[in-house]
Amino acid sequence: MNSADRHVVRWLALIGVVTLAALLRAQAFDLVIANGRVLDPESGLEAVRNVGVNGRTIAAISEERLNGRTVIDASGLVVAPGFIDLHAHGQTPETYRYQARDGVTTALELEVGAGDIAGWYAARKTGALINYGVSIGHIPVRMAVLRDPGKFLPTGDGAHRAASPAQIKEIGRRLADGLEKGAVAIGAGFPYTPAATEEELLEVFRVSASHRVPIHAHIRRGVAGLEEALRLAAATKAPLHVVHINSTGTTSTRELLNMIADARQKGMDVTTEAYPYAAGMTEIQSANLDEYENASEQRVALLEWPRTGERLTRESFQKYRKTGGPVVLHTNTEEMVAIAISSPLTIIASDAYWENGTGHPRTTGTYSKVLGRYVREARALTLMDAIRKMTLMPAQRLERRVRAMQAKGRLRVGADADITIFDAAQLIDRSTYREPALPPVGIAHVIVNGVPVVTNGQLVEGVSPGRAVRAN
Ligand SMILES: [Zn+2]
Repeated sequence: MNSADRHVVRWLALIGVVTLAALLRAQAFDLVIANGRVLDPESGLEAVRNVGVNGRTIAAISEERLNGRTVIDASGLVVAPGFIDLHAHGQTPETYRYQARDGVTTALELEVGAGDIAGWYAARKTGALINYGVSIGHIPVRMAVLRDPGKFLPTGDGAHRAASPAQIKEIGRRLADGLEKGAVAIGAGFPYTPAATEEELLEVFRVSASHRVPIHAHIRRGVAGLEEALRLAAATKAPLHVVHINSTGTTSTRELLNMIADARQKGMDVTTEAYPYAAGMTEIQSANLDEYENASEQRVALLEWPRTGERLTRESFQKYRKTGGPVVLHTNTEEMVAIAISSPLTIIASDAYWENGTGHPRTTGTYSKVLGRYVREARALTLMDAIRKMTLMPAQRLERRVRAMQAKGRLRVGADADITIFDAAQLIDRSTYREPALPPVGIAHVIVNGVPVVTNGQLVEGVSPGRAVRAN
């Protein structure tokens, strides 16, 4: 090649580079998120980038300026994958709105679950604000088989009557049928079904093992409760997900986390989750509250009636137990909750709970509370570690069964455009036990499948881009 030729080649190469850059600039994306600090827990990327979205997919992540038909200026803001909540009761338009403002783009009801999977998904097929999904639940299936009169949790035979061998077989058959119809997991809550025998629980775990799908279980309290669940999982080789280790573990939270770490080291498929509040909430008529029937005044005073804020006495406990409604349980300490939240083992999951206009503040504040109080104020964990617990870890828990989850929980080209954009310096929860509906501040924009559902901290009306998360 003579010097003139070399000159031409250099020019052609230069034109190529310039053309590529020009093409990238000229191409107009449907949506561009400009100049945000992009966090992706899978690749470890944490840098200022521009994100281009086409349709419902992330199409570009670039240091170059990108053109968009719509542009969100994310200067000074964090751009993270949308939060995936593995434990979200409610599943109503109202709770989807609360959760969207807390940065949640996918809310899954995996603990209580549903008894009729086809019907549950059909009821939402016109769309929802955020992505949604459900497990086939041992609790509702048992309620149906034993004809329990309760609405959400069992209050009659579903809680208090042992199932016959034929009924146990029928429970197993309905669980397997729910999985065939696309349920995301199996749900269970042993304290809500205290009459379920070991034989019945083994049947639940066997169905889980044969389909290789995790049981999202509210186990019995403390070390003995986890020993029981690990024994059932080991006997059947069922994957196990222990819900809210904070409220199940209370004073033994550290010990329970160590037991889970040991089980994982031995090769068991066990995971867990936590929510950042020292008080729980459940239905006062549920069997989970039976133990307060003959408890001391001091113990009953751990319960709060959220409609009035009063602490219960033995007398008022009996009164409200007859009428029914949600009750707050002040049974944990902040110290134990901090251990649960900062453990690398825990996924963040809200256990969102809302009933007739009142509920637990975790419904509206779980994710902003972890990021505001535990990451920024207490420095108990890094921002990247917290984001991993809210996005990649829950996606990975489900992706073996639900292929769609492989494209969630990540901020990379080709992933679903579920994105949460927030001000890490301002973000804070505001909801309390008395005012559980107060939204957090600092969640600036939330995008679901490429469509903004929260813009400048405000809900966008009239959109429903949320899609079903369902097993293949
Ligand atoms: Zn729950």
